[in-house]
Amino acid sequence: MHSYVDYQSAKPVDPRVREVMLPYFHERFGNPSSLHGEGDEAAKVLEECRRTIASFINAEPDEIIFTSGATESNNLALIGYASRNREKGDHIIISEVEHISIHNIAKYLEKNGFKVSRLPVDQYGKINMKKLESRITPQTILISIGYASNEIGTIQPISEIGQLAREKGVTFHSDAVAAEGLIPLDVKRDHIDLLTLSSNDIYGPKGVGVLYMRKGMRLNPVIIGGGQERGLRSGTENIAGIVGMSKAVEIMQREMKEEVKRLAQYRDRFIKNILERIPKSHLNGHPTERLANNAHFRFEAIEGESLLLSLRDAGVSAATGSACSSKTLEPSHTLISTGLLHEEAHGSLEFTFGRFNKEEDVDRVIEVLPAIVDRLRKLSPLYKEEMPT
Ligand code: PMP
Repeated sequence: MHSYVDYQSAKPVDPRVREVMLPYFHERFGNPSSLHGEGDEAAKVLEECRRTIASFINAEPDEIIFTSGATESNNLALIGYASRNREKGDHIIISEVEHISIHNIAKYLEKNGFKVSRLPVDQYGKINMKKLESRITPQTILISIGYASNEIGTIQPISEIGQLAREKGVTFHSDAVAAEGLIPLDVKRDHIDLLTLSSNDIYGPKGVGVLYMRKGMRLNPVIIGGGQERGLRSGTENIAGIVGMSKAVEIMQREMKEEVKRLAQYRDRFIKNILERIPKSHLNGHPTERLANNAHFRFEAIEGESLLLSLRDAGVSAATGSACSSKTLEPSHTLISTGLLHEEAHGSLEFTFGRFNKEEDVDRVIEVLPAIVDRLRKLSPLYKEEMPT
Protein backbone atom coordinates (compact mmCIF):
# COMPACT_ATOMS: atom_id res chain seq x y z
CA MET A 1 0.00 0.00 0.00
CA HIS A 2 1.16 3.51 -0.77
CA SER A 3 -0.19 6.66 0.89
CA TYR A 4 0.20 10.03 -0.82
CA VAL A 5 -0.32 12.78 1.74
CA ASP A 6 1.40 15.67 -0.04
CA TYR A 7 -1.57 17.20 -1.86
CA GLN A 8 -0.19 20.70 -1.39
CA SER A 9 2.73 19.93 -3.73
CA ALA A 10 0.71 18.37 -6.53
CA LYS A 11 -2.71 16.89 -7.03
CA PRO A 12 -3.76 14.19 -9.47
CA VAL A 13 -6.05 15.43 -12.23
CA ASP A 14 -9.59 14.27 -11.48
CA PRO A 15 -10.54 11.58 -14.08
CA ARG A 16 -13.73 13.56 -14.83
CA VAL A 17 -11.52 16.54 -15.72
CA ARG A 18 -9.22 14.46 -17.91
CA GLU A 19 -12.23 13.08 -19.77
CA VAL A 20 -13.54 16.49 -20.87
CA MET A 21 -10.04 17.66 -21.86
CA LEU A 22 -9.31 14.84 -24.30
CA PRO A 23 -11.30 16.06 -27.37
CA TYR A 24 -9.42 19.37 -27.23
CA PHE A 25 -6.15 17.72 -28.19
CA HIS A 26 -7.39 16.42 -31.53
CA GLU A 27 -11.02 16.85 -32.66
CA ARG A 28 -11.43 20.34 -31.19
CA PHE A 29 -7.99 21.77 -31.75
CA GLY A 30 -9.02 25.22 -32.99
CA ASN A 31 -7.29 28.50 -32.16
CA PRO A 32 -9.77 31.04 -30.72
CA SER A 33 -8.19 33.81 -32.80
CA SER A 34 -8.88 32.04 -36.15
CA LEU A 35 -11.71 33.20 -38.38
CA HIS A 36 -13.30 29.85 -39.24
CA GLY A 37 -15.54 27.24 -37.67
CA GLU A 38 -12.79 25.56 -35.63
CA GLY A 39 -11.67 28.96 -34.35
CA ASP A 40 -15.21 30.07 -33.53
CA GLU A 41 -15.81 26.90 -31.55
CA ALA A 42 -12.60 27.41 -29.54
CA ALA A 43 -13.51 31.06 -28.87
CA LYS A 44 -16.95 30.02 -27.65
CA VAL A 45 -15.54 27.38 -25.31
CA LEU A 46 -12.98 29.84 -23.98
CA GLU A 47 -15.72 32.30 -23.03
CA GLU A 48 -17.84 29.57 -21.40
CA CYS A 49 -14.87 28.57 -19.26
CA ARG A 50 -14.27 32.21 -18.35
CA ARG A 51 -17.88 32.45 -17.13
CA THR A 52 -17.65 29.26 -15.06
CA ILE A 53 -14.40 30.30 -13.41
CA ALA A 54 -15.67 33.83 -12.74
CA SER A 55 -18.71 32.39 -10.92
CA PHE A 56 -16.38 30.40 -8.62
CA ILE A 57 -15.04 33.63 -7.08
CA ASN A 58 -18.09 35.89 -7.59
CA ALA A 59 -16.41 37.85 -10.38
CA GLU A 60 -17.47 38.89 -13.91
CA PRO A 61 -16.17 36.91 -16.93
CA ASP A 62 -14.22 39.88 -18.31
CA GLU A 63 -12.29 40.09 -15.04
CA ILE A 64 -10.63 36.70 -15.67
CA ILE A 65 -7.22 36.51 -17.38
CA PHE A 66 -5.90 33.04 -18.24
CA THR A 67 -2.21 32.43 -17.51
CA SER A 68 0.21 29.51 -17.33
CA GLY A 69 -0.22 29.12 -13.58
CA ALA A 70 0.06 30.80 -10.22
CA THR A 71 3.65 31.95 -10.67
CA GLU A 72 2.75 33.83 -13.83
CA SER A 73 -0.41 35.25 -12.25
CA ASN A 74 1.67 36.54 -9.33
CA ASN A 75 4.16 38.11 -11.77
CA LEU A 76 1.37 39.79 -13.70
CA ALA A 77 -0.29 41.04 -10.51
CA LEU A 78 2.79 42.48 -8.83
CA ILE A 79 5.08 43.50 -11.70
CA GLY A 80 2.16 44.37 -13.98
CA TYR A 81 0.48 46.53 -11.36
CA ALA A 82 3.61 48.16 -9.92
CA SER A 83 5.09 49.09 -13.28
CA ARG A 84 1.81 50.50 -14.57
CA ASN A 85 1.04 52.52 -11.43
CA ARG A 86 4.46 53.80 -10.49
CA GLU A 87 3.41 57.44 -10.67
CA LYS A 88 0.96 56.77 -7.79
CA GLY A 89 3.70 55.54 -5.46
CA ASP A 90 6.62 53.16 -5.06
CA HIS A 91 5.77 51.20 -1.92
CA ILE A 92 4.48 47.62 -1.72
CA ILE A 93 3.56 45.56 1.34
CA ILE A 94 3.82 41.78 1.47
CA SER A 95 3.97 39.44 4.47
CA GLU A 96 6.93 37.36 5.64
CA VAL A 97 4.98 34.13 5.00
CA GLU A 98 4.28 34.58 1.30
CA HIS A 99 4.98 31.92 -1.28
CA ILE A 100 8.53 31.97 -2.64
CA SER A 101 7.29 33.39 -5.96
CA ILE A 102 5.94 36.51 -4.21
CA HIS A 103 9.19 36.91 -2.23
CA ASN A 104 11.31 36.67 -5.35
CA ILE A 105 9.08 39.03 -7.35
CA ALA A 106 9.31 41.51 -4.45
CA LYS A 107 13.13 41.30 -4.59
CA TYR A 108 12.99 41.92 -8.34
CA LEU A 109 10.81 44.98 -7.78
CA GLU A 110 13.27 46.28 -5.17
CA LYS A 111 16.07 45.99 -7.71
CA ASN A 112 13.89 48.09 -9.99
CA GLY A 113 13.46 50.93 -7.53
CA PHE A 114 10.37 49.92 -5.51
CA LYS A 115 10.33 49.76 -1.72
CA VAL A 116 8.95 46.63 -0.11
CA SER A 117 7.78 46.16 3.50
CA ARG A 118 7.61 42.59 4.76
CA LEU A 119 4.99 42.30 7.45
CA PRO A 120 5.98 40.05 10.38
CA VAL A 121 3.60 37.37 11.65
CA ASP A 122 2.80 35.91 15.07
CA GLN A 123 3.83 32.44 16.31
CA TYR A 124 0.99 30.92 14.26
CA GLY A 125 1.93 32.67 11.04
CA LYS A 126 -0.87 35.22 11.12
CA ILE A 127 -0.44 38.89 10.25
CA ASN A 128 -1.51 41.65 12.63
CA MET A 129 -4.01 44.19 11.28
CA LYS A 130 -2.64 47.08 13.39
CA LYS A 131 0.86 46.44 12.10
CA LEU A 132 -0.45 46.31 8.55
CA GLU A 133 -2.24 49.62 8.98
CA SER A 134 0.86 51.24 10.46
CA ARG A 135 2.93 50.25 7.40
CA ILE A 136 0.60 51.94 4.90
CA THR A 137 1.98 55.30 3.72
CA PRO A 138 0.81 57.73 1.03
CA GLN A 139 3.37 55.99 -1.22
CA THR A 140 1.80 52.52 -0.76
CA ILE A 141 0.23 51.28 -3.99
CA LEU A 142 -0.16 47.55 -3.40
CA ILE A 143 -0.68 45.03 -0.60
CA SER A 144 -0.07 41.38 -1.51
CA ILE A 145 -1.00 38.86 1.15
CA GLY A 146 -1.73 35.20 0.49
CA TYR A 147 -5.13 33.86 1.50
CA ALA A 148 -3.53 31.04 3.48
CA SER A 149 -0.08 29.58 3.89
CA ASN A 150 0.72 26.72 1.51
CA GLU A 151 3.10 25.44 4.20
CA ILE A 152 1.60 25.73 7.67
CA GLY A 153 -2.01 26.23 6.52
CA THR A 154 -2.70 29.37 8.55
CA ILE A 155 -5.57 31.44 7.13
CA GLN A 156 -5.16 35.23 7.02
CA PRO A 157 -7.93 37.73 7.87
CA ILE A 158 -8.55 38.40 4.18
CA SER A 159 -11.85 40.30 4.49
CA GLU A 160 -10.34 42.67 7.04
CA ILE A 161 -7.26 43.25 4.88
CA GLY A 162 -9.50 43.93 1.87
CA GLN A 163 -11.62 46.35 3.85
CA LEU A 164 -8.60 48.25 5.13
CA ALA A 165 -6.97 48.38 1.69
CA ARG A 166 -10.20 49.69 0.13
CA GLU A 167 -10.52 52.40 2.83
CA LYS A 168 -6.94 53.49 2.28
CA GLY A 169 -7.22 53.42 -1.51
CA VAL A 170 -4.52 50.75 -1.83
CA THR A 171 -4.86 47.88 -4.32
CA PHE A 172 -5.10 44.44 -2.72
CA HIS A 173 -3.73 41.27 -4.31
CA SER A 174 -4.10 37.83 -2.77
CA ASP A 175 -2.52 34.57 -3.88
CA ALA A 176 -5.40 32.19 -3.12
CA VAL A 177 -3.76 29.02 -4.41
CA ALA A 178 -3.47 27.30 -1.03
CA ALA A 179 -7.06 28.18 -0.08
CA GLU A 180 -8.91 27.43 -3.31
CA GLY A 181 -11.14 24.40 -3.04
CA LEU A 182 -10.95 24.59 0.76
CA ILE A 183 -12.48 28.01 1.50
CA PRO A 184 -15.33 29.61 -0.50
CA LEU A 185 -13.78 32.54 -2.37
CA ASP A 186 -15.64 35.79 -3.00
CA VAL A 187 -13.72 38.74 -4.39
CA LYS A 188 -16.59 41.15 -3.77
CA ARG A 189 -17.13 40.17 -0.13
CA ASP A 190 -13.39 40.34 0.55
CA HIS A 191 -12.70 43.55 -1.45
CA ILE A 192 -10.02 41.82 -3.49
CA ASP A 193 -8.69 43.67 -6.55
CA LEU A 194 -6.32 41.00 -7.89
CA LEU A 195 -6.51 37.28 -7.10
CA THR A 196 -4.24 34.42 -8.14
CA LEU A 197 -5.73 30.98 -8.82
CA SER A 198 -4.22 27.79 -10.14
CA SER A 199 -5.84 24.83 -11.86
CA ASN A 200 -3.88 21.96 -10.31
CA ASP A 201 -4.85 22.99 -6.80
CA ILE A 202 -8.46 22.09 -7.60
CA TYR A 203 -7.57 18.81 -9.41
CA GLY A 204 -7.20 20.36 -12.86
CA PRO A 205 -4.07 20.09 -15.02
CA LYS A 206 -0.80 21.81 -14.10
CA GLY A 207 0.42 24.78 -16.14
CA VAL A 208 -2.91 26.66 -16.14
CA GLY A 209 -3.95 29.51 -13.88
CA VAL A 210 -5.96 32.67 -13.64
CA LEU A 211 -5.47 36.21 -12.53
CA TYR A 212 -8.71 37.86 -11.47
CA MET A 213 -8.44 41.57 -12.18
CA ARG A 214 -11.20 43.81 -10.87
CA LYS A 215 -12.76 46.10 -13.48
CA GLY A 216 -10.93 49.39 -13.58
CA MET A 217 -7.53 47.96 -12.56
CA ARG A 218 -4.71 48.99 -14.88
CA LEU A 219 -1.82 46.58 -15.44
CA ASN A 220 1.10 46.28 -17.82
CA PRO A 221 1.48 42.86 -19.44
CA VAL A 222 4.56 40.82 -18.52
CA ILE A 223 4.23 38.62 -21.62
CA ILE A 224 4.01 40.58 -24.83
CA GLY A 225 2.99 39.20 -28.21
CA GLY A 226 -0.14 38.70 -30.29
CA GLY A 227 -2.47 40.50 -27.90
CA GLN A 228 -4.57 37.61 -26.54
CA GLU A 229 -6.41 38.09 -23.23
CA ARG A 230 -7.01 41.75 -24.07
CA GLY A 231 -3.30 42.30 -24.51
CA LEU A 232 -2.60 41.37 -20.90
CA ARG A 233 -1.34 37.87 -21.62
CA SER A 234 -0.26 37.13 -25.14
CA GLY A 235 0.19 33.63 -26.48
CA THR A 236 -2.24 31.11 -27.97
CA GLU A 237 -4.65 30.02 -25.27
CA ASN A 238 -4.17 26.57 -23.72
CA ILE A 239 -7.75 25.54 -24.50
CA ALA A 240 -7.46 21.92 -23.28
CA GLY A 241 -5.97 23.15 -20.01
CA ILE A 242 -8.57 25.89 -19.60
CA VAL A 243 -11.40 23.42 -20.28
CA GLY A 244 -9.84 21.20 -17.61
CA MET A 245 -9.64 24.03 -15.09
CA SER A 246 -13.24 24.97 -15.78
CA LYS A 247 -14.43 21.38 -15.25
CA ALA A 248 -12.37 21.24 -12.04
CA VAL A 249 -14.19 24.38 -10.85
CA GLU A 250 -17.60 22.89 -11.69
CA ILE A 251 -16.83 19.75 -9.68
CA MET A 252 -15.45 21.79 -6.80
CA GLN A 253 -18.54 24.00 -6.69
CA ARG A 254 -20.72 20.91 -6.26
CA GLU A 255 -18.52 18.85 -3.97
CA MET A 256 -16.45 21.27 -1.93
CA LYS A 257 -18.68 21.39 1.12
CA GLU A 258 -18.68 17.62 1.63
CA GLU A 259 -15.04 17.29 0.69
CA VAL A 260 -13.89 19.94 3.16
CA LYS A 261 -15.91 18.29 5.92
CA ARG A 262 -14.26 14.95 5.24
CA LEU A 263 -10.75 16.42 4.99
CA ALA A 264 -11.18 18.36 8.23
CA GLN A 265 -12.16 15.10 9.98
CA TYR A 266 -9.01 13.43 8.67
CA ARG A 267 -6.92 16.40 9.72
CA ASP A 268 -8.33 16.61 13.23
CA ARG A 269 -8.04 12.89 13.91
CA PHE A 270 -4.53 12.87 12.51
CA ILE A 271 -3.31 15.86 14.53
CA LYS A 272 -4.82 14.52 17.75
CA ASN A 273 -3.25 11.09 17.33
CA ILE A 274 0.19 12.32 16.33
CA LEU A 275 0.43 14.80 19.21
CA GLU A 276 -0.76 12.12 21.66
CA ARG A 277 1.43 9.31 20.40
CA ILE A 278 4.67 11.15 19.74
CA PRO A 279 6.34 12.85 22.71
CA LYS A 280 7.89 16.28 22.12
CA SER A 281 5.90 16.87 18.97
CA HIS A 282 4.28 20.23 18.23
CA LEU A 283 1.78 21.55 15.73
CA ASN A 284 3.06 24.34 13.47
CA GLY A 285 0.55 26.94 12.31
CA HIS A 286 -2.72 28.05 13.85
CA PRO A 287 -4.62 25.52 15.99
CA THR A 288 -8.04 26.47 14.54
CA GLU A 289 -7.65 29.02 11.74
CA ARG A 290 -5.99 26.55 9.42
CA LEU A 291 -6.76 24.90 6.10
CA ALA A 292 -8.97 21.82 6.34
CA ASN A 293 -6.37 19.58 4.69
CA ASN A 294 -3.22 20.69 6.51
CA ALA A 295 -1.30 19.12 9.39
CA HIS A 296 2.23 20.47 10.00
CA PHE A 297 4.39 19.23 12.85
CA ARG A 298 7.72 19.83 14.48
CA PHE A 299 9.45 16.90 16.11
CA GLU A 300 12.24 17.80 18.51
CA ALA A 301 15.77 16.60 17.89
CA ILE A 302 15.33 15.07 14.43
CA GLU A 303 15.80 16.20 10.87
CA GLY A 304 12.74 16.47 8.64
CA GLU A 305 14.73 15.01 5.73
CA SER A 306 15.55 11.78 7.63
CA LEU A 307 11.91 11.48 8.62
CA LEU A 308 10.81 12.00 5.06
CA LEU A 309 13.16 9.31 3.74
CA SER A 310 12.05 6.81 6.38
CA LEU A 311 8.42 7.57 5.58
CA ARG A 312 9.20 7.07 1.92
CA ASP A 313 10.62 3.61 2.70
CA ALA A 314 7.39 2.88 4.58
CA GLY A 315 5.32 3.86 1.53
CA VAL A 316 4.24 7.34 2.65
CA SER A 317 4.80 10.50 0.55
CA ALA A 318 4.85 13.64 2.72
CA ALA A 319 6.84 16.91 2.58
CA THR A 320 9.37 18.77 4.70
CA GLY A 321 7.87 22.11 3.85
CA SER A 322 7.26 23.91 0.62
CA ALA A 323 7.73 21.72 -2.46
CA CYS A 324 8.59 24.85 -4.36
CA SER A 325 11.83 25.26 -2.42
CA SER A 326 12.44 21.85 -0.86
CA LYS A 327 15.55 21.27 -2.95
CA THR A 328 17.42 23.99 -1.05
CA LEU A 329 18.98 23.25 2.33
CA GLU A 330 17.68 26.48 3.82
CA PRO A 331 14.95 26.02 6.41
CA SER A 332 11.52 27.28 5.44
CA HIS A 333 11.28 31.08 5.62
CA THR A 334 7.70 30.65 6.84
CA LEU A 335 8.72 28.59 9.87
CA ILE A 336 11.55 30.99 10.72
CA SER A 337 9.06 33.88 10.54
CA THR A 338 6.91 32.18 13.19
CA GLY A 339 9.89 32.37 15.55
CA LEU A 340 11.37 28.89 15.21
CA LEU A 341 15.13 28.45 15.37
CA HIS A 342 16.82 26.93 12.31
CA GLU A 343 17.24 23.53 14.00
CA GLU A 344 13.59 23.56 15.10
CA ALA A 345 12.39 24.42 11.62
CA HIS A 346 14.48 21.56 10.23
CA GLY A 347 12.58 19.01 12.29
CA SER A 348 9.26 19.81 10.61
CA LEU A 349 7.00 17.76 8.38
CA GLU A 350 3.96 18.74 6.34
CA PHE A 351 1.03 16.42 5.62
CA THR A 352 -1.74 17.55 3.27
CA PHE A 353 -4.75 15.37 2.53
CA GLY A 354 -6.90 15.48 -0.58
CA ARG A 355 -9.77 14.15 -2.67
CA PHE A 356 -8.39 10.66 -3.26
CA ASN A 357 -7.24 9.92 0.28
CA LYS A 358 -9.13 7.37 2.33
CA GLU A 359 -9.35 6.76 6.07
CA GLU A 360 -6.69 4.05 5.59
CA ASP A 361 -4.13 6.66 4.53
CA VAL A 362 -4.65 8.55 7.78
CA ASP A 363 -4.49 5.32 9.81
CA ARG A 364 -1.35 4.22 8.06
CA VAL A 365 0.63 7.38 8.84
CA ILE A 366 -0.61 7.30 12.42
CA GLU A 367 0.64 3.73 12.58
CA VAL A 368 4.12 4.15 11.06
CA LEU A 369 5.21 7.64 12.12
CA PRO A 370 5.62 7.16 15.90
CA ALA A 371 7.99 4.20 15.42
CA ILE A 372 10.05 6.12 12.83
CA VAL A 373 10.39 9.14 15.12
CA ASP A 374 11.36 6.87 18.00
CA ARG A 375 14.02 5.05 15.96
CA LEU A 376 15.56 8.25 14.61
CA ARG A 377 15.62 9.82 18.04
CA LYS A 378 17.50 6.83 19.44
CA LEU A 379 20.17 7.53 16.83
CA SER A 380 20.18 11.27 17.49
CA PRO A 381 22.88 12.73 19.73
CA LEU A 382 20.56 15.69 20.31
CA TYR A 383 17.71 13.74 21.86
CA LYS A 384 17.28 13.22 25.59
CA GLU A 385 14.02 11.91 26.98
CA GLU A 386 14.09 14.27 29.93
CA MET A 387 14.67 17.24 27.62
CA PRO A 388 12.27 20.06 28.50
CA THR A 389 9.52 20.63 25.95
N1 PMP B 1 1.45 30.23 -4.87
C1 PMP B 1 1.24 29.27 -3.96
C2 PMP B 1 0.57 29.60 -2.66
C3 PMP B 1 1.65 27.94 -4.22
O1 PMP B 1 1.47 26.98 -3.31
C4 PMP B 1 2.29 27.66 -5.46
C5 PMP B 1 2.77 26.26 -5.75
N2 PMP B 1 1.71 25.35 -5.86
C6 PMP B 1 2.47 28.71 -6.38
C7 PMP B 1 2.05 29.97 -6.04
C8 PMP B 1 3.14 28.47 -7.70
O2 PMP B 1 2.37 27.68 -8.52
P1 PMP B 1 2.90 27.21 -9.96
O3 PMP B 1 4.19 26.49 -9.68
O4 PMP B 1 1.82 26.30 -10.46
O5 PMP B 1 3.09 28.40 -10.80
